[in-house]
Amino acid sequence: MGEQGPSGARRTAKKTNASAPPATAESTPGDRAVPAESAAGKQAPARKPARAAASASVKSPKPAKSPKPAASSGPAASPKGGKAAGPAASAKPTKPAKAAKAAESTASPKPAKPESPTALVRRARRINRELAEVYPYAHPELDFENPFQLIVATVLSAQTTDLRVNQTTPALFAKYPTPEDLAAAVPEEVEEILRPCGFFRAKTKSVIGLSKALVENHEGEVPGRLDDLVKLPGVGRKTAFVVLGNAFGRPGITVDTHFQRLVRRWKWTEETEPDKIEAAVGALFPKSEWTMLSHHVIFHGRRICHARKPACGACPIAPLCPAYGEGETDPEKAKKLLKYEKGGFPGQRLKPPQSYLDAGGIPAPPLGAAG
Ligand code: SF4
Repeated sequence: MGEQGPSGARRTAKKTNASAPPATAESTPGDRAVPAESAAGKQAPARKPARAAASASVKSPKPAKSPKPAASSGPAASPKGGKAAGPAASAKPTKPAKAAKAAESTASPKPAKPESPTALVRRARRINRELAEVYPYAHPELDFENPFQLIVATVLSAQTTDLRVNQTTPALFAKYPTPEDLAAAVPEEVEEILRPCGFFRAKTKSVIGLSKALVENHEGEVPGRLDDLVKLPGVGRKTAFVVLGNAFGRPGITVDTHFQRLVRRWKWTEETEPDKIEAAVGALFPKSEWTMLSHHVIFHGRRICHARKPACGACPIAPLCPAYGEGETDPEKAKKLLKYEKGGFPGQRLKPPQSYLDAGGIPAPPLGAAG
């Protein structure tokens, strides 16, 4: 899903083309480009962690135990006493043995120990606990009132923002409130409603096909089983887990583009395929935590740990993050990168949960509203 700028308008979305190849719900919604990440090698700062943004809603991190920094070859690796090891420090000739020792301590750092599986589980769970404190109101960012609305909205969210879907679905569900209604719809009329979502012809075909399958095979009800859900047209594991987790209360991990990017930055897994990521990350957490874990990670990816410029200097989990420094570390500059409620802007839902409003979250504007 694309990101929303301060004005609430989509920023990353390319012009959509209704005649472009069909978008599927399993393509990563709107968050198309996953830039090459280079999380390797960078470790959380030895210095005090950057505190989360000035936004009151970003909770300041508790001093967290940092994974041991990899031996640095940078300035921080100066020998004890604070003298630089470079030429500026050699006003007096250094004794060979001393020089050799100094060189050894700066030039040949010992490689960092690989993290044990137990330490990884501990760190991963710690990150999730911290994120739960930062985003106690984390939730799915698609507006829905029943499983049918959620599955349709999730299919529509391919290649666009949740915000745009939320601005479009009120008209869709007002005209076609049930699978029977949508299954019998005139495609051109649905296309007109879905036009703002992009790929509107393909999406019209998908949601009408999905509705027909629900009517023909499931008596007009969304099934609550993974095996049945993934057989529906346009529905893969990601959509199925969104529906299971949020409409049926059955735990599931949603591996979207944010989830993939963040778990790689955190070195939770080296896997690159969504199904393998799902299995690897699932093994680090109790099943009961999977749905909320997904929300925490995706919230963090959308608000702070962005694809191109993560706001490391305003990140509450910086001390636990091996990729600290991949983004902006200056706290003031990092604060300006924060999005949605963390930056003081509207969220993506027109009807967010009360917990979000209580935390100072602002509902998204309806389609066509200024801002
Ligand atoms: S913003 Fe992302 S990369 Fe930077 S410290 Fe936080 S989690 Fe790590």
